[in-house]
Amino acid sequence: MSNNITFRKSAGPGLLMNNSLTAVFIDVLCLSGGKLAESDFQKEIMVRLAGMDASIRGSGFTGFDPEDLFNGIDPQEGSRFLQLVCENASAEPEWKGLSYNPDRKMLRDAIGRFSFILSEVGKISGNIVLMDFSKNSYFQCPVHGAYMHESGCVICNNS
Ligand SMILES: [Zn+2]
Repeated sequence: MSNNITFRKSAGPGLLMNNSLTAVFIDVLCLSGGKLAESDFQKEIMVRLAGMDASIRGSGFTGFDPEDLFNGIDPQEGSRFLQLVCENASAEPEWKGLSYNPDRKMLRDAIGRFSFILSEVGKISGNIVLMDFSKNSYFQCPVHGAYMHESGCVICNNS
């Protein structure tokens, strides 16, 4: 069982990960993004990414297209932010919040690949209908600092 993160508008290969790597991948990005998100659209992206939670979507949920994370958000700004989250997530101190020891090389490779896909997504141009997230409430997990989706914290849910 595996998940594939692909960008519909790109012919390049996607990012194929097994279920356990996907879970670690989402966890570290949510830990990292919990520290970096400042504006509402950045918090919204982190909530959407946290929503790729195997505990609600089912193990082997087949993946997602990063463009979907940016619905109503400028894809250039969204990609720039998430690439920063990736960069920060590749640094080892970020993994201290995890209750397990990830395979560092596999994790770094996956994050690097995702960052490349994001750079492709960031090239999308055209008419973008921006959404206003200022009336949304965003809550962080008191344990992990990750932004929570409607069913709680992705890291708590899977640990
Ligand atoms: Zn948590």
